[in-house]
Amino acid sequence: MELEEDEYVEYVPVAKRRALEAKKTLLRHQRKGKPIRDTGSSCALGDETLDDDDDSPPSSSANKPPAAESKPPPSLLVQATQLKRKQPAITRAEQLVQQEIEIIQDLLSSGRKPLMSVSELAKGIAYTEPLPTGWKPPLRYRRMPSEDRDAIRKQWHIVVDGEEIPPPVSNFRDMKFPDPILEVLKVKGISRPTPIQLQGLPVVLSGRDMIGISSTGSGKTLVFVLPLIMIALQEEWMMPVGPGEGPLGLIVCPTRELARQTYDVVQQFLAPMAENVGYPELRCLLGIGGIDNRLELASVVKNKGVHIVVATPGRLKDMLAKKKMRLDICRFLTLDEADKLVDGDFEDVTRDIFDHLKGQRQTLLFSATMPTKVHEFARRALVKPVTVSVGRAGAANLDVIQEVEYVKQEAKIVYLLECLQKTPPPVVVFCENNAAVCKVHEYLLVKGVDAVSFYGKEMEQTDRDRAVALFKAGKKDVLVATDGASKGLDFPNIQHVINYDMPAEIENYVHRIGRTGRCGKTGLATTFINSQQSETTLLDLKHLLQEARQRIPPVLAELSDPVELGVVGTAANADGCAYCGGLGHRISSCPKLEQQRSQQLASLRSRDYFGSGGYRGEM
Ligand code: ADP
Ligand code: MG
Repeated sequence: MELEEDEYVEYVPVAKRRALEAKKTLLRHQRKGKPIRDTGSSCALGDETLDDDDDSPPSSSANKPPAAESKPPPSLLVQATQLKRKQPAITRAEQLVQQEIEIIQDLLSSGRKPLMSVSELAKGIAYTEPLPTGWKPPLRYRRMPSEDRDAIRKQWHIVVDGEEIPPPVSNFRDMKFPDPILEVLKVKGISRPTPIQLQGLPVVLSGRDMIGISSTGSGKTLVFVLPLIMIALQEEWMMPVGPGEGPLGLIVCPTRELARQTYDVVQQFLAPMAENVGYPELRCLLGIGGIDNRLELASVVKNKGVHIVVATPGRLKDMLAKKKMRLDICRFLTLDEADKLVDGDFEDVTRDIFDHLKGQRQTLLFSATMPTKVHEFARRALVKPVTVSVGRAGAANLDVIQEVEYVKQEAKIVYLLECLQKTPPPVVVFCENNAAVCKVHEYLLVKGVDAVSFYGKEMEQTDRDRAVALFKAGKKDVLVATDGASKGLDFPNIQHVINYDMPAEIENYVHRIGRTGRCGKTGLATTFINSQQSETTLLDLKHLLQEARQRIPPVLAELSDPVELGVVGTAANADGCAYCGGLGHRISSCPKLEQQRSQQLASLRSRDYFGSGGYRGEM
């Protein structure tokens, strides 16, 4: 195609362009009054090229030598300093907050894929509207003015975030649960919704994605179990699940015991429903490691179809990989203790599970601890999410009286016996590792205490189940356990939690002491500390105790907070460290982040080494 005449731009040869550039530079320097050495190229300039330069100032002034008395302009460095002085002063706190935002942004954008299936990412599928459910709150709630809704939320310390948030509903009957469900709630002694249920249930029943944050023992389980049963019921009435189909809803829990406990809760509601005339049979399957569920898989999934699956990530991944079950029609996904599932060791498996989801689903995340970084990351996978929080994420349950005592390492085991006298059983004693659990358990048995032990994967599943069942049934007085029993487990009426070892991460402390003081009851927690704990851990503990208005022991009171903690307790640090939730330090000095980074670095190094074709033995 021929160019129009006025669009034509004359070609300027490279040599000529260079000459023009050199002349421009020369003129600039002359204007600034700087001497410039003649270069070969500038010498080559002809007068006619100088006149062609549109940008150059009028030649008369340009060619004048600089006035001797004119002051040279300030250097760039001086200009920058002057500019900085003119800017309003930024406080140290603001600087820290800015730094933290940058660290979080960096963590969030460091090549981490959002929690979506590979096909969704590849096809660029992004859902924008929540899935409809057909549930609506009664008219009087829908007509409730927003000030009244806010007043109810304020009364129960509920903080909500999101668009078009459904109103809080103050009783189960108004939530339109069918009679068999209301009957089970009555039998369980559950008459009124807890704050997280009051706001969380209408949100989930409306089909909205939700992040639910509320302290340990505040009744989060029902917020995802009851709406899931409602969805299964509705779907079953409309189009029954057939052989090989399902599940419609999936609940993922980080530990086998928590999955079993949640499965039991689901079954408590499903069993009476199946006996009621007019209600269909809804089927639930438990998928956890350490048990052989081939029979259930055959009888439930293959022969009849399944509505609800409660599983741990590992077993679920296995069942999906072996095509024992598919998530084609799964439209409801809950991650309980979600911060553990979307971050850290479980992240890859959770991603795998997301890969098997075929369509849009309602996604729910629940936990008592949810650092900002995990929260932000998880939110990206949700559709128009609503965050419902009751209290600060990571705060200790206020119904637990927290006592912290300085006990020397060698005196701990003897003092434990004395400590057990503080309350009647049942008591849970938490230790850092399996070896400590065995040592404490043996000691207690020798001293005649009716104790049972529970520790990680090295323990046979049948022994784990036996230990938990005996303790739950009240047949054992003391459970000595590792952190494996710290999350989500709902042992009835625990009187006292003893932290024989203070955990390094404050989140684990919050979960551990949360085994007592559940659902309105008061509990006691005693924690042994000594020189084995890092100062950061102790500072986190100190601030957590301060937040819960507990007595601060002298050893913690004496700890001096670093200078940068000048902003602790202000709005800037109200949520704690963005990486681990600890109140006593900032993300810039987070030990968990440092540990994770050094682990990543180590794994990268080893990968480089083996990738380069070296032999381990020969180095
Ligand atoms: P979380 O998951 O928040 O730690 P759970 O859901 O395990 O707490 O509930 C803790 C205990 O409280 C359970 O024994 C449960 O039956 C009971 N519970 C749940 N909701 C209520 C309620 N509205 N009123 C009384 N007790 C309840
Ligand atoms: Mg729970």
